[in-house]
Amino acid sequence: MALVPAAGLGTRFHEGGPKALVLLAGKPLLVHVLERLHASGRVTEAVVAYQPGSEEAFRAVLAAAPLPVRLVSGGVERRDSVVAALEASGAADDALVLVHDAARPLVDPIEVAAVVDAAATHGAAIAGHAMVDTVKRIKGGKVVETVPRIDLLSATTPQVFRAGLLRKAHAKAPEAIVTDDAELVERSGGSVAVVLTSRWNLKITYPEDLTWAEAWLARAGG
Ligand code: C5P
Repeated sequence: MALVPAAGLGTRFHEGGPKALVLLAGKPLLVHVLERLHASGRVTEAVVAYQPGSEEAFRAVLAAAPLPVRLVSGGVERRDSVVAALEASGAADDALVLVHDAARPLVDPIEVAAVVDAAATHGAAIAGHAMVDTVKRIKGGKVVETVPRIDLLSATTPQVFRAGLLRKAHAKAPEAIVTDDAELVERSGGSVAVVLTSRWNLKITYPEDLTWAEAWLARAGG
C-alpha cells in the first residue's frame, strides 16, 4: 500500500495550482510517481492526499493511473497529509505502508523494491544518498561550524514502515514539526534501515528542477 502526500502548494515552485499536477515530459508528476511505484512490483494500491479544493483536478488526472487509487483530502502540513492517507488506507498494523512524495517523479522502481524489502526485514527503511557538498551550520550570515559529512545522509522517499509503527510514531508526537516520517519513528525509539539510492531521485522544488528531470528522462529514454 502506497501513501502519496500530494497536497503541497508548491509555493517555491510557482504561484497557484497543485505542484503534483505539473507536467513533466507531458505527464503529471503524480502519474510518473504512481507508474514507478507500480513498476516496482511491490505496490498494488495507493492513497493520494490531494490539495483541498482540487479533488476534481486530481480525479481527472488519476484516470491514467496504473493501479487503484483512493483520494483523501490533505492537511496543513505534510505530516497531516500522511496521517490522513494512513487512516484512509485501513492498513493492518503489521502491513507495510510506503510513503512517497508526489514531488519525486524519477524514483527508480528497483530502488523502491529494495526499500520495501529492507522494511520487510527491519520494520522501517528509508531511501537516501550520501551528501556531496560540504555542510556548514550558519547563523546571521556567518559560518558557525563545518559538519563532517562522512556519516550524513540526504534522506529522501520512499520511506516504508509497518503501519502500526508509523501510527504510533505519529500519535506520540502530534505537534512535532518534521519534514519526513522517519524522524517520528526515530523519536519514538524505532530503528530505521537505510537503502542508498541514486541522486536522481530528486525532489521537484524549484522550476529548474523540472529542467533537470526532463533532461534526465530524455537521456535515460524515459
Ligand atoms: O513541501 P515539500 O516539498 O517538502 O513537500 C513534500 C511532499 O509533501 C510533496 O509531495 C507535497 O505535495 C506533500 N505535501 C502534502 N501536504 C502538505 C504539504 C506537502 O501532501 N500540507
